[in-house]
Amino acid sequence: MLPSAFDYVVPDSLEEAVRALTEGPDARALAGGQSLLPLLKLRLARPARLVDLRRLDGLRYVRKVDGGVAVGGLTPHAEVAGSTLLVGGGRALAEAAAAIGDVQVRNRGTFGGSLAHADPSADLPAAVLALEATLLAHGPDGEREIRAGDFFLGPFATALRPGELLVGARMEIPEGSRGAYVKLRHKASGFALVGVAAVLEMDGSTCRRARLTVTGTGGRPLRLEETEEALAGLSLEDGRAVREACSGAGEVLEDVHDDLHGSAEYRRAMTSVMATRAVLRAVG
Ligand SMILES: Cc1cc2nc3c(=O)[nH]c(=O)nc-3n(C[C@H](O)[C@H](O)[C@H](O)COP(=O)(O)OP(=O)(O)OC[C@H]3O[C@@H](n4cnc5c(N)ncnc54)[C@H](O)[C@@H]3O)c2cc1C
Repeated sequence: MLPSAFDYVVPDSLEEAVRALTEGPDARALAGGQSLLPLLKLRLARPARLVDLRRLDGLRYVRKVDGGVAVGGLTPHAEVAGSTLLVGGGRALAEAAAAIGDVQVRNRGTFGGSLAHADPSADLPAAVLALEATLLAHGPDGEREIRAGDFFLGPFATALRPGELLVGARMEIPEGSRGAYVKLRHKASGFALVGVAAVLEMDGSTCRRARLTVTGTGGRPLRLEETEEALAGLSLEDGRAVREACSGAGEVLEDVHDDLHGSAEYRRAMTSVMATRAVLRAVG
């Protein structure tokens, strides 16, 4: 099917883009188009105006900042996946980006587009939540910060206000931390049936603080707080102890998807398996 008719603008600056998003009714930003274009073609989205962000090159970066790393909203997944700055706990983000779709999707799709789209099975939301990232929004009232924990409100719903663009994120990467992302892929779409991101702060081989998140099981990514507590103080060289600590990860989840792709019971069981694998991969 062809998309319904829309007005199309390609602003040269962020301010122009925000103006183009706010001055008419029902305008949508277009970044990599990897989620929006299929919606347009199916007429599930019928915006009156598309605001193409392609010229906002200044939002395409992965750079070092004090104590961590910053990622621009228009950075393609492939550049996040390949960044040499995402080491230690930052591996959770690089591995989540590398796990997205295929080469074409990773070259076109963007960091900000994925987070703003907030697909409940997307990979990057789990990683930014585990890294306790600060997300940067720019809109008609200027720039504001949103904690990743406050950003994802539900399926395809975020804390972004009308006319706001997600321009980037900042995350601290603690010295000596370790990170990983693993997912059980849906066989056809490649999206996460269950994906787990792990960011571990270590004292030698002992876990001082763990941050574990899951995507794909419900309407938004969640912290696995009980498992984080169970891992704190544990020697992560002991695979059996790690398995034991992660064994209840899925059991505490509420409102787990139960559909033809996997029962709630299966997704809960796989959450524990993916949590174990993510922790062992991070320290392995
Ligand atoms: C075949 C295929 C396989 C895929 N597999 C996976 C997968 O395994 N895992 C996964 O996580 N994702 C997957 N995706 C989705 C992919 O990650 C998309 O790149 C991402 O969801 C959207 O990013 P985009 O830049 O393409 O955004 P677009 O499609 O351009 O936009 C998506 C939405 O976000 C809004 N938007 C875009 N940028 C911004 C911004 N900076 N600020 C505010 N709003 C913005 C748009 O208005 C639109 O509503 C897949 C997509 C395809 C086509």
